[in-house]
Amino acid sequence: MTARDESVAPAAITSLPGVGAALAAQLADIGVHQIEDLLFVLPLRYEDRTRLSRMGSLVTGQRAVVSGEVQLAEVVFRRRRQLLVRIDDGSGSLTLRFFYFSNAQRDGFARGSRIRCYGEVRRGPSGFEMVHPEYQRLGENPPPLPDRLTPVYPSVPGIAQGRFRRLIDLALQAVARRQVHDWLPAEISAPLELPGLGTALRELHHPPLDLSLNELASGRHPAQRRLAFEELLAQHLALQGIRNRLRQRNAPALVDTSQLAARLARSLPFSLTGAQRRALDQICADLQLNTPMARLLQGDVGSGKTAVAAIACAQAIGSAGQAALMAPTELLAEQHWQTLHDWFAPLGVTVTLVTGTLPAAARRKALASIADGKSQLIVGTHALFQQGVAFARLALVIVDEQHRFGVDQRLQLAEKAAADASVHQLIMTATPIPRTLAMTAYADLDVTVLDELPPGRTPVRTVVLPETRRAEVVERIAAACAGGSQAYWVCSLIEESEELKAQAAQDTAAALTEALPQLRVALVHGRLKPRAKEKVMREFKAGEIELLVATTVIEVGVDVPNATLMIIENAERMGLAQLHQLRGRVGRGRRESSCVLLYRAPLGETARERLNALRETNDGFVIAERDLQLRGAGELLGTRQTGLAQLRVADLARDVAMLPQVQRAATVMNERFPGSIAPLVARWVGASAQYGRVG
Ligand code: ADP
Ligand code: MG
Repeated sequence: MTARDESVAPAAITSLPGVGAALAAQLADIGVHQIEDLLFVLPLRYEDRTRLSRMGSLVTGQRAVVSGEVQLAEVVFRRRRQLLVRIDDGSGSLTLRFFYFSNAQRDGFARGSRIRCYGEVRRGPSGFEMVHPEYQRLGENPPPLPDRLTPVYPSVPGIAQGRFRRLIDLALQAVARRQVHDWLPAEISAPLELPGLGTALRELHHPPLDLSLNELASGRHPAQRRLAFEELLAQHLALQGIRNRLRQRNAPALVDTSQLAARLARSLPFSLTGAQRRALDQICADLQLNTPMARLLQGDVGSGKTAVAAIACAQAIGSAGQAALMAPTELLAEQHWQTLHDWFAPLGVTVTLVTGTLPAAARRKALASIADGKSQLIVGTHALFQQGVAFARLALVIVDEQHRFGVDQRLQLAEKAAADASVHQLIMTATPIPRTLAMTAYADLDVTVLDELPPGRTPVRTVVLPETRRAEVVERIAAACAGGSQAYWVCSLIEESEELKAQAAQDTAAALTEALPQLRVALVHGRLKPRAKEKVMREFKAGEIELLVATTVIEVGVDVPNATLMIIENAERMGLAQLHQLRGRVGRGRRESSCVLLYRAPLGETARERLNALRETNDGFVIAERDLQLRGAGELLGTRQTGLAQLRVADLARDVAMLPQVQRAATVMNERFPGSIAPLVARWVGASAQYGRVG
């Protein structure tokens, strides 16, 4: 044991020869503090520099190593100051072009000196050239060409590739001296045929020539799999750690002596579905324990999560606690407030709304009533958890549509809850995540699935049409609204600013107003003042507006059962999960609803299959699985929508098949190697493991 302990003492990066304070600071910027951290900065790609090319036989676009004698080096001004160096190897000549260079660099290209360089061959004004090649001056005894592939690292400002490679070499020597410990026991790695850590790191930083570049590029080389596995395991263990620490804390046992939950359930305008009842059985049992609940409620759009949340809140309030419901957008927070106020007010419960845009006086008033306990149910955006909101006796926090919050926010909330040491948490999401993935991504939570929709829903009919048939679609809106229905028109611009999205939505709204003069058309987008947004939504809900043109702000939660038609523009550019969420805004009433997905031709094969998946099913879980197959995870598994923090090596899409093994390995680690867990987590989750510090 002692030998091992010595070998794992973290070695500061400055203990490498030649690494002083300045370089250490540059490395710290990319998160490298210890020698070990350096080794986990993996190459972006590899280059074959093992063969010398003759200048006479170069071709444009080729990446080549050449070696020759400097004929001429001169600084010229052609639009920009630049250094041109002409080299010759007897078979032909080549120009090296530098836009950034020091005087020392310039002086180093003495006529007659020998240079070896590597770069991409381009055709320049006077024959072949390389722009900013990597180069080295060759002395009397030139070093041999590399006999391995050359790794190319992510660029670090101020550190040239060559320098970075030398640092990596030094760090690898530290591995050879066993200064980097392999925390994965052979019991785990051997049956999975994963190489040891040292081997994996050496192969990735110094891949032998016979290694398949294709395998490396696709991330499926055993060395990469080994690191990806270790990273996923570390993430899994980190989340489990949060949960274990949470379990050791106390929370108030919420016993609803006043039967508020039962009274609320009876007063709802519908009876609960079997799935809602089952979920509530689990939640209410959790709440009665004196350890904090940490549960994820997964339910497809429209499955009725709000009612479950409300009854859970009632149980907390009925036992003299306060409950808080956090929504990702103001629009949704306002809508929740409205719904909950309608349900709770008759039972004498005060529901308060807190958003970031509340006028100062109203905010003060709201905060005061939260602090003195007069408000029992508090609904808000993340503004709720900003400093300054003090609760009198917060007992339950519910986060709605958690996939819309960043992971950081979720974990921040978990931390806040845990710091208070007395809060039960329910996390709700409409993003169906396949079970194996959920087990790792939400390893800190118990999971409940609402697998049944309320009765009387007619499935949404989905059609996929090219943009060119817009006129027909407009007709369809006219017909639907003439029949007393309402419609949404969703304008989706991907990755543009809110400003541009708003502009596009405005243009569309103007065009639709002109095309449908008989209809009352209104517009909501992210740039609208909350009050204006709220007004439009209220009018739409009340049926005073027939056609609502919107950006994707309406993606989550909006509930208007009389809306039966939704048009989504640029559907081919959106993720399946998001389209499914949007479509979930219709099909909430008794009348048949439809959703028109407009696309701009031509449609690629995958895009076609994706849109077809939506046409064929309304089941969010099936769609999620299809998305996984078609795009490999993509947006569904993007960090925003899973519980996992930023991954360095692993890629959930690519590595999803490893997850069951990761989960089994986690059990082995917990049972047999508990002492290796903390260092493993520290290595991979590192600074962001801060979030795990709830104990
Ligand atoms: P989501 O799970 O997407 O948040 P909501 O909570 O908004 O779903 O519920 C969708 C709609 O279904 C709402 O209009 C809600 O009132 C209604 N609803 C919820 N539960 C039931 C039920 N058991 N029976 C009938 N309608 C229900
Ligand atoms: Mg909802």
